[in-house]
Amino acid sequence: MNTHDKGGLKEPADDRSKLLLMYGLAALSAAVVLFSMIDTLVVGMRMAARHAPQIDAAMEIKLEATRAHLWFEELIGGDETRNIAEVWSFIDSADWYAQALLEGDESEEGKFLPLKDDRLRGSVQEIQGQLAEFRRITKQRYETPAESAICSEIDQEYDKVYEQLMLKADEMESFFQGKITADLDRFRLVQIALIALAAGMFITVAIIFDFFIRRHLRDEKQLHAANQQLQASEQQLRAANQQLQASEQQLRASNLQLVAGEQQLRASNQQLRASEQQLKASNQQLGAGEQQLRAANEQLATREKEYRLLFNEMISGLAVHEIICDEKGNLCDYRFLDINPAFEKLTGLKKKDVTGNTIRQIMPTIEAFWIDTYGKVALTGEPTHFEHYNKELAKHFDVTAYMPKHGQFAVIFNDVTERKHAQMETERLNRSLSVKNKELQSIVYVASHDLRSPLVNIQGFSGELNGSCRDLRRLLETRDISDELRQDMIRLVSQDIPEALEFIGAGTEKMKTLLAGLLHVSRAGSIDIDVKALDMNELLASVVAATQFQIDDMKAKVTLEDLPPCLGDADQINQVFSNLVSNALKYSSPDRAAAVSVSGRVSDDSVVYCVEDNGLGIQDNHKENIFEIFHRLNPKDSPDGEGLGLTIVSRILDRHDGRVWVESKPDEGSRFFVSIPKA
Ligand code: ADP
Repeated sequence: MNTHDKGGLKEPADDRSKLLLMYGLAALSAAVVLFSMIDTLVVGMRMAARHAPQIDAAMEIKLEATRAHLWFEELIGGDETRNIAEVWSFIDSADWYAQALLEGDESEEGKFLPLKDDRLRGSVQEIQGQLAEFRRITKQRYETPAESAICSEIDQEYDKVYEQLMLKADEMESFFQGKITADLDRFRLVQIALIALAAGMFITVAIIFDFFIRRHLRDEKQLHAANQQLQASEQQLRAANQQLQASEQQLRASNLQLVAGEQQLRASNQQLRASEQQLKASNQQLGAGEQQLRAANEQLATREKEYRLLFNEMISGLAVHEIICDEKGNLCDYRFLDINPAFEKLTGLKKKDVTGNTIRQIMPTIEAFWIDTYGKVALTGEPTHFEHYNKELAKHFDVTAYMPKHGQFAVIFNDVTERKHAQMETERLNRSLSVKNKELQSIVYVASHDLRSPLVNIQGFSGELNGSCRDLRRLLETRDISDELRQDMIRLVSQDIPEALEFIGAGTEKMKTLLAGLLHVSRAGSIDIDVKALDMNELLASVVAATQFQIDDMKAKVTLEDLPPCLGDADQINQVFSNLVSNALKYSSPDRAAAVSVSGRVSDDSVVYCVEDNGLGIQDNHKENIFEIFHRLNPKDSPDGEGLGLTIVSRILDRHDGRVWVESKPDEGSRFFVSIPKA
């Protein structure tokens, strides 16, 4: 990973080489500057220490020689203020400077260093010789009288000597001047180089500075980013720390669990040992199982044979097909793969004619519905079952199609024509029964209702007859008739007729009760019902509350379990459970305290409720009769009853698509079951 990836502060490799190059350049520039400065110093020092005094000396030589010349001219011109000694002192002074140039000395002008250059030394010595010559010629001229003939010759020589001296002095001065100029040139050159180098160095330093600033900024940015990362990491660290603490607590809890687990483990270990032994036993069983497996395998082969046999022998028609789709994947046809003999028999189609052929080849007019229906079975695996009437064969078939393998379907069908006819007949009979039932109901209603008035008449006239008998007896006692006749008639009016009237009264009373019962039953079967979801816990609570007096009186125990809701008419279902609970209490055993419980459970689409008692129980042969109208098993068990309660229960449940049945053991108790559609 490189430094950028890490976001660290290291310099990249190319930065480092750039920096090195720049450092090198700066160092080089600094070295050159230093060198130039030293060089300037050396040149300057040389100029100050050597060349400046030398040029001074050269100029002084010239000056002193010129002074000597002027003074001498004035002297020989007759100026008495001048003297030859002065002239010569000037020449000596010039010579002193020449000597100082050669050997080195010190004067007011400064220190003179001895010349090293031999050629220059020769020039100086030449000047010294010319100075000596100058002194000689001045002496000669001074000592020679003005009127002497050789004076002009000496003057000519003098001019020549002086001229040469000045020439030589000029030459030397020029030479030193040249030296100084050379030094100055060099000095200037070094100055320019220094300025250039300083500029270069400045630029280099500026670049380095810029580089450092940029790097600093970059580093600062990275530092900032790193800082942010650090802060984020710190937060994460804190969160992690909290998690760690939570984990520590969990760990402690886990540790406790672990200890508990260890104990469980020990227990499990013991169980494991027991299991190991069981395993050994199982292993042995496994061996036995293997043998059974072999036997099962053999059975499988036998089964396959049996399956073939079944396929061939079964009375249901069976055909296996494969579905065919067109290029777009739409269902378009199906092909017969196999059919059994029953199929041949039921359809008249032969195996050799259909196997391998498609349904469209065999039956070109087949409706697409069949291909779609079977195709869905073959592709989705969802079986289908339906009844179908085949017009050509004039037969009803019960058809089941299923998917034995993806893309295939098997069709099993049975000829149910007879059953269908029977079913249709039953439906027809049911319809007529329902009509008859309705007629019967209206007859029962009308009879029970309308018969009440003749009965009331009979009761009324019986009462009148009774009164007439009493009147007749009074008359007989007062009338004058034979005793025998009186006796016979009195017996008739006070014994036989009242007795007959009593029978008529009892009969009419019974008939009245029966008619009331009939009316009740008829109403239960005809009254409008309002079906809705019923809270059975509430309903049974109200039923029990209504019989609470009887329950308390009998010291009976009634238990209501949690009851699922059902769909029904509240009043009628209340009537059902009122009758059943009341019977359970009514037919209790005199040997034990009555205990009644009501429970319920959902079974498929219905709720089955059970009213259980520990009463007298019902013998097996009466279990059906008790639901018949006016049927009472043993009226003396309870005088209070008309044999209508269970009939009404059964009637109400018929109207609710429900059912009632009983399980019972004599002298142990009964369980009345009621099934009602669930809510
Ligand atoms: P009733 O109770 O008026 O006689 P029911 O139709 O209610 O008429 O009952 C018919 C008969 O069934 C009763 O006479 C009785 O003999 C019998 N029976 C009904 N319920 C019970 C029960 N819980 N235990 C024993 N016998 C019963």
